[in-house]
Amino acid sequence: MGCARGHGLEQARQILPGYFVCDGPVMRYVPGPAGMHPEPTPCGERFHDGSAGPVAMCACGEPAVDACPMCRSWVGQHCLAVGIGRRCAICTGRERERLRESAAYAAGVHDRRLTELSGVTDPVERLLRAAAYLHGPPVHGAAADRVAELRRVCPFLDVRAGADLDGTGPFPWDSAEVGRWFVRWAGRHGVRPDQELLQGRWLRRRTPAWVIGVGATRTCLVPSGEVVRVTRERTVHRVVRGDPRMYRVALRVERAELPMAGLARLGLLVERR
Ligand SMILES: [Zn+2]
Ligand SMILES: [Zn+2]
Ligand SMILES: [Zn+2]
Repeated sequence: MGCARGHGLEQARQILPGYFVCDGPVMRYVPGPAGMHPEPTPCGERFHDGSAGPVAMCACGEPAVDACPMCRSWVGQHCLAVGIGRRCAICTGRERERLRESAAYAAGVHDRRLTELSGVTDPVERLLRAAAYLHGPPVHGAAADRVAELRRVCPFLDVRAGADLDGTGPFPWDSAEVGRWFVRWAGRHGVRPDQELLQGRWLRRRTPAWVIGVGATRTCLVPSGEVVRVTRERTVHRVVRGDPRMYRVALRVERAELPMAGLARLGLLVERR
């Protein structure tokens, strides 16, 4: 006995009891310096052969082609195809159960967090903290419906299904009201703007600001409570005490709205208090 190409068993290596891979020579075209040329290569065929001893069997009764990495029991072709990561049927069942439990656990944690946020009394604080939690990649596995979740936590908002919460607005929240609320909150808690909005020749106008986003679409909340967006800017290079510095100077700003990312940025500051 041997492989289907007619190589003998003595040319094969045993990988499991009674399961072999053939090393017999087969002429194949291989790439070389002068182009493709024929060369003897190992056959590579795998086959079962019980003539020299017992054949490893899968629990389902099929001859085995692999060993389970968890329990080392033999696994056949079919069980391998329907299992998880080369596991046998029993270990695959355990893994499925474990995955179900961890998904259910994560969903439970997420659900409790949404309920907790729904209990925040001040509506603006609730909106900001909900945005901080819901914005960005889902922390709870499966693709969540952010709009539905925001509506659940903040039922006072008129959030339409499929609403774009990241564009330039209009948004279901009042950005000016949110901005004023945040500035009052920041004043009470001693949270100072961490950046500056630079304007004018020679960078003369410097307004402290909480900045949301980067590049030409920067949105800034300034201490008056106003939300503005930089719609045109230029880069200015200056040498300050021997150090080359680069500044971004706003050439044009417009009154703007706070997108979800903006609420999330402010919400994170509120969460950290
Ligand atoms: Zn062969
Ligand atoms: Zn099997
Ligand atoms: Zn196993």
